[in-house]
Amino acid sequence: KKRIFSAIQPSGSVTLGNYLGALKNWAALQDSYDCIFALADLHTITVRQEPAKLRHNTLEAYALLLSCGIDPKRSPFFLQSHVPAHSQLAWILDCYTQFGELQRMTQFKDKSQKHADNINAGLFTYPSLMAADILLYQADLVPVGEDQTQHVELTRNIAERFNNAYSPTFTMPDALVLKGGRRVMSLQDPTRKMSKSDENVNGCVYVLDKPEDIMRKFKRAITDSEAKVHYAEGKAGINNLMDIYACVTGKSYEEIEHDFDGKGYGDFKQAVGEAVVEHLRPIQERFAQYSSDKAYLQQCWDAGAEQVSRIANRTLQKVMKKVGFVL
Ligand code: ATP
Ligand code: MG
Repeated sequence: KKRIFSAIQPSGSVTLGNYLGALKNWAALQDSYDCIFALADLHTITVRQEPAKLRHNTLEAYALLLSCGIDPKRSPFFLQSHVPAHSQLAWILDCYTQFGELQRMTQFKDKSQKHADNINAGLFTYPSLMAADILLYQADLVPVGEDQTQHVELTRNIAERFNNAYSPTFTMPDALVLKGGRRVMSLQDPTRKMSKSDENVNGCVYVLDKPEDIMRKFKRAITDSEAKVHYAEGKAGINNLMDIYACVTGKSYEEIEHDFDGKGYGDFKQAVGEAVVEHLRPIQERFAQYSSDKAYLQQCWDAGAEQVSRIANRTLQKVMKKVGFVL
């Protein structure tokens, strides 16, 4: 079986973008692949985090991912900070990553603009930590939204460089971008992607939002003045709503255009909101159960860390030996 590694940062409440771009598919992948899942908490501190909030977000995200169908009995699901090999390999890979490569990362450009008062070294070297996350487990595939494909590409370059310098050490990973929900945009600014760390909460639908909040956000979504539901260039707002609707209902663009022919944006937004609420309802119900049982969550992540540490340490030892460290 091919191995999959995937992670999400507990950097805020999980958004509909995270869900449609990534999480929605993770549960099903467990049937065909050998999956390892993580909460990438080390990555979150590239941006200032309030400690109590980070702890809260971590627990919440863990319970939510279980609610989305991650089965910790089949797939180890751990917290990145519990497995020191991530930080250890990241340092080594830093030394095999070029300054220029990191400078070209669009996420660094975006985030350093957004957090101009805190352009720290970690924000810059984030991609080599992400490379370590993936390469430690010799992952074949990394399911991500489209915003992360550049990082997986860099991971391949680092792996190839290391393999060439020594001998084959790392499996070359491929990004797995599933169609639908590749890139969910902000409801308030459809030219920007929906992000957990966005300050404009009206632009983001959170998986745990109350139904009335979801409805309100969709009703206020920015669209255009044409008032015709169809997919076209220059209609970023409507295109985004159509993508979301297609993703949660399984309908094609043609079906949607047909269903809303002659109807206004108000009706369409209402329908999108309702479809999202219905889609998220069972997840929210499961969340209420999981989140109330911290002892169970802890048991799951402890077991996960123990399992993956064996794989991670094996790779790390190999790397250390090749580099020339005395073991
Ligand atoms: P942050 O703003 O802190 O970076 P984020 O919302 O970008 O948070 P991440 O934890 O960085 O979330 O990414 C988790 C997963 O969600 C990744 O696979 C990423 O590709 C995917 N993802 C994030 N935003 C979107 C989006 N708007 N559309 C589709 N997929 C997304
Ligand atoms: Mg992100």
